[in-house]
Amino acid sequence: MKKQRAFTHEVAAEVPEVYRCYQCLTCTLGCPVAFAMDLYPHEIVKYVQLGARDKVLNSSALWTCASCETCATRCPNEIEIVQLMDCLRRMAIAEKRAREKGPILNRVFLDAIRKRGRIHEISLIVDLKRKTGELFRLDKDEMRLGLAMLRRGKLKLLPTRIKETNVMKRLFSHVEKKR
Ligand code: SF4
Ligand code: SF4
Repeated sequence: MKKQRAFTHEVAAEVPEVYRCYQCLTCTLGCPVAFAMDLYPHEIVKYVQLGARDKVLNSSALWTCASCETCATRCPNEIEIVQLMDCLRRMAIAEKRAREKGPILNRVFLDAIRKRGRIHEISLIVDLKRKTGELFRLDKDEMRLGLAMLRRGKLKLLPTRIKETNVMKRLFSHVEKKR
C-alpha cells in the first residue's frame, strides 16, 4: 500500500490536480488517438490515483498520446493530462521501461532540434531506423510514400539549419539544468 501511495504522491507533486478526477470520461471521448491506446486517458488518471505504477509506466498509451491538449481543454476539473503524460514518460524512461519506438523517436527528434534547430525528415527516419535496428528493413509502403513526397517537393534531400544554433544549444542546457 505504501508503494502505491508513493507513486501517486510522486506524480501528484508535478500534477497536483490529478486527485480531482471523478472519471467522467470526457478526456477519452475527445482524444483523437484513444482508439490506438492500450489504456484510455481517463484510465491512466485512475491508475495513477490507485498507485498502479507498473500498469501505468508500462502502458504504450504514454507514447501514443500526441500531446494535442484536447483532453486538458475539455476536462471539467482542469486536469493537465499532457503534463501528466510528460511526467509519466520521464518516469518510464528513467526506469528503462520504455520499449516502444516512441521514446527513441522523442530522443532522435530532440537531438535534431538541438543540432540544427529544425527537422530534416529523411535524417530523422534514418536515425530512428538505425537506433531501432531497422536500418535495412525496407517497408514498401514507406518507400512509396517517401518517393511520392520527394517528387512533390515535400521532402528536402539535404538538411538545413537555423543561423542561431548556439541559442538552441543554450536553451537545451538551460532546460536540462532545471530538471
Ligand atoms: S475529463 Fe478530467 S475529470 Fe473527466 S475523466 Fe478525464 S481527467 Fe478525469
Ligand atoms: S493530449 Fe494525448 S491523451 Fe490528451 S487528447 Fe491529446 S492525444 Fe489524447
